[in-house]
Amino acid sequence: MDVAPVVRNGRTYLPARFVAEAFGYEVGWDPGSQVVLVGPKGNLPEPPRAQNRVRVVPAIVTSVSDGDTVHVQLDGKDEKVRFTGVNCPEIAHPELGIEEQPYGKEAAAYTRERLSGKTVYLEFDVQERDKYGRLLAYVWLERPSSGSEEEVRAKMYNARLLLGGYAQVMTVPPNVKYADMFVKFQREAREKEKGLWSAAPVAPTGKTGGVAKYIGNSNSKKFHRPDCQWAQKIAPQNRVEFRSREEAVKAGYVPCKVCRP
Ligand SMILES: [Zn+2]
Repeated sequence: MDVAPVVRNGRTYLPARFVAEAFGYEVGWDPGSQVVLVGPKGNLPEPPRAQNRVRVVPAIVTSVSDGDTVHVQLDGKDEKVRFTGVNCPEIAHPELGIEEQPYGKEAAAYTRERLSGKTVYLEFDVQERDKYGRLLAYVWLERPSSGSEEEVRAKMYNARLLLGGYAQVMTVPPNVKYADMFVKFQREAREKEKGLWSAAPVAPTGKTGGVAKYIGNSNSKKFHRPDCQWAQKIAPQNRVEFRSREEAVKAGYVPCKVCRP
């Protein structure tokens, strides 16, 4: 045994190799998939192949609620699915007091057109359901193989929404598997002024129900993207809205280091 046991919080931890070898098994390491392989001597299991790196379940989209929420048929059950890591502008829900946001209708129409009646492949992250019981999923249009950035761009609907300017990034830990890619896709859409990032003037929130592009804190003099967790924590009396980055900078605000607006 080349590694000593460790006692932590009153429990003794033994190296996996020691335990396996004590039972007559052999231990291997597959650097490609970063997986420890344990099996009978001379007969180690196959390392997981690249095709298995993204685990998905097929489902059929039965209806579209809005840009980022659909109903699916999964294992014979109706499930509401909220797309992970993205947030589309709202469509009007008068019964909930929610007003239409710019590009909300377009995002809902896009999802209806692309997903209605389709078979999709749902991938779950660490947290599978939200507090409303909805499934939280990355929605693949085709069965993924490697999960590479190229494949995410081409085949994952959450990414298609961001790249087309139909949604903004909304990262809710612990579901962060594709968060870095998503931020990159959003930046590309914004630079190309796609969809909700188009140059059309955007009314500030609160007055006409529009979406501000940047949120400032008049106390800290920092500004954020609206989806930044810190933007959402600004007290209403300190909340300032900007329609462009330039407007925020000219007013003497500095960009947040977390959301990098
Ligand atoms: Zn921020």
